[in-house]
Amino acid sequence: MINAKNSLDLIGNTPIVLLRGASEATGCEIWAKCEYANPGGSVKDRAALYIVRDAEANGLLRPGGTIVEGTAGNTGIGLALVGNALGYRTIIVMPDNQSAEKMATIRALGAELVLVPPAPFANPGHFVHTSRRIAEETDNAIWANQFDNIANRKAHICGTAEEIWQQMEGRVDGFTCAAGTGGTIAGTGLGLKAKDERITIALTDPHGAGLYNYYKCGELKPEGSSVAEGIGQNRITGNQDGAPIDTQFRISDAEGLAVCRRLLDDEGLCVGLSSGINVAGAMALARELGPGKRIVTILCDSGFRYLSTLYNPEWLASKGLAEAAA
Ligand code: PMP
Repeated sequence: MINAKNSLDLIGNTPIVLLRGASEATGCEIWAKCEYANPGGSVKDRAALYIVRDAEANGLLRPGGTIVEGTAGNTGIGLALVGNALGYRTIIVMPDNQSAEKMATIRALGAELVLVPPAPFANPGHFVHTSRRIAEETDNAIWANQFDNIANRKAHICGTAEEIWQQMEGRVDGFTCAAGTGGTIAGTGLGLKAKDERITIALTDPHGAGLYNYYKCGELKPEGSSVAEGIGQNRITGNQDGAPIDTQFRISDAEGLAVCRRLLDDEGLCVGLSSGINVAGAMALARELGPGKRIVTILCDSGFRYLSTLYNPEWLASKGLAEAAA
């Protein structure tokens, strides 16, 4: 039991659960860290708190200040709740094709939400560049810069990795997850390697991202596409740089959705697509390492955040994914 003295102390120290179906199917123990249990409902609360605390410590964020960020949504939710708890205003820039639930949550938290059309990173209208410009034009504002600000991955070195090591009682054979900013995979990977360098760190990439080919053959080459929100990266961000990746897997949306369905039907766990892709990656790692191993992955956010998409039959049919989720 945790008795938090402050709402921000609710961030981190998430439970870890043994996934029965994935474990039985592979002969390994597959454990998942329940990041949806953070107060903002996702793994990104951790990065939000570390980024804000780092900006305060460096004198960049002053009383009455504003936090500006570009995000697929979860970091925006995390920054808005951290901002509310500490007395800062937040302005969140988000592509307009992300889930309506995330947009409504950001608005409910009182943040200013700026929606932009999806655009390639090279386009100045991309949500990341738009957020940087707004920060530059706003008085007493910081740009959180979650992709390149390594306070993000520090949250996972000091938090996620340390917690996994304690919860697994020092017996971990492998860890895997997908990358958005890369903070989770790089930070948790670095933290676990510092505990035991024999732990295998695997990147699980969605289709449409360039990192699988980067780690496999040194070339950032995306192939295919994905509807997964919050993951899929085509550059080596400041947080991804130096991630200790030993092996890599590429998981399709159909595979990830099938895992989401199994988790919901067999274990009562309702999670987002990046979590389904992560568990599918953990199963691939289990098969590579062989039976009897202990593998950890991340349940990044709740499926309740995607009731209008991943858990809506009409939406799935419109994306050609109805069968995968059946
Ligand atoms: N899953 C979801 C749902 C996310 O919102 C994010 C954050 N972009 C991730 C996974 C990836 O986390 P990270 O940014 O630490 O790579």
